[in-house]
Amino acid sequence: MNKLGILMDDRYFDHAVEPRSLENPKRLRRLYPLIKERYNGAFRSVAPREASFDQIEQVHSNFYINQVREHAIKPDPFSYDRDTYLMDRSLATAQLAAGGCLAMADRVMDGTIRNGFALIRPPGHHAEPGRGMGFCVLNNAAITAKYLQTRYQLSRILILDFDIHHGNGTQDVFYDTDTVMFISVHQKGLFLSSGTPGEIGEGKGRGHTINIPVHSLFGDTEYTYLFGQLLNNVVEQYMPQIILVSAGYDGHEDDPISATLLTTHWYHTVTTMIKQCARDICDGRLLYLLEGGYNPESLEDAVLATIDSLLAPEQPRVGIFHSTRAQALLNHHPLNEFWTL
Ligand SMILES: [Zn+2]
Repeated sequence: MNKLGILMDDRYFDHAVEPRSLENPKRLRRLYPLIKERYNGAFRSVAPREASFDQIEQVHSNFYINQVREHAIKPDPFSYDRDTYLMDRSLATAQLAAGGCLAMADRVMDGTIRNGFALIRPPGHHAEPGRGMGFCVLNNAAITAKYLQTRYQLSRILILDFDIHHGNGTQDVFYDTDTVMFISVHQKGLFLSSGTPGEIGEGKGRGHTINIPVHSLFGDTEYTYLFGQLLNNVVEQYMPQIILVSAGYDGHEDDPISATLLTTHWYHTVTTMIKQCARDICDGRLLYLLEGGYNPESLEDAVLATIDSLLAPEQPRVGIFHSTRAQALLNHHPLNEFWTL
C-alpha cells in the first residue's frame, strides 16, 4: 500500500488575477506534472472536497465569509485588501483548499495513508477568524485542526509552521487552548510585527504558542538546530497525536520575499526530522499543507525535496550540530518557564 498521499487539483488554478500577484497559479502549474512524472506510482492520489460552511465557521466568522462574497463580485479584485485579491472563484477555490486538507486528514486518520502533502492554494496561515490577509482567504491549517478535534476527538494537535512569515491567523485561533500547540519559526518583523517570543498563549493556552523569530541571513545550520531542539524537547514533552505542517517555502535563499538563506536541501532535512519525530510520537501521522513560496523554481525544487524525504526509507534520527547563535535565541526565551528548550 502507498503510504504517502498527495493532493493536487487543477481547480486550484481558478483563483487568479491579472496583473499577476506573487500568489498565482504558476506556483503549482508546472509542479503537478513534475510530481506525476517523477513519482509515478509511488504515492496515492487524494481527491479534494469543498469544506462546508459549518466546518469553516469553526474558525471564521459568518460576517467575514459574507465580506468575501461581497468583495468577490466587485470590479476591483483588490477592493478588500492590497495583497489578498478576491474574484468570483476565490471562495470556492479556498473552500476546496481547506476541504482538500480535511480529505487528507481523513485518509491519515483511517490509515489509508501514513502521511500526506496537500498542494493547495490559496494559502491560509495569515487568515484570522474575522479577516483575510497576506494572500490567505481561509485558514486551512486551523480548519483542519478544528475538524480533527470534532470528527476524531483529538486533544493534542501540533501545528508546526516553517513559512518565513509569522502564522498570525493560526496563532489567533488557538491562543487560549492547550489542545493545539502552535510553533512558528519565521523571519523577524517580516510583513507583520506579531510573532514575538513573548507571545506564548493565554489562559489554558499559556506555553502552547511558541514563536521563534529568526534573524535575516539565518540558513540551514541555525534552522536545523532550532528545529532539532524544538522537536526533541517541546514536541516530545507535548506528545501530539498528529502533526500538521504549515509548509511555506518562502524562506528559500532564492525566494524574492525573504532574506533567509535556506537551501533546497534543508527542506529535505527538516522533513526527515519531522517524519522521524512523528514516527516516534504519533504513529507517523503527519500532514503537510502548502503555505507560501513565491519563486516557482525554488518552490518546485523544495517541494520535490520534501516529497523525496517523505518517500525515503526510515532512517535513524538526524543528529544536530550545536549552533551558539541559534541557541542564544532559546536561552532567554520566556517559554523556559514551561519547557526545557
Ligand atoms: Zn509566507
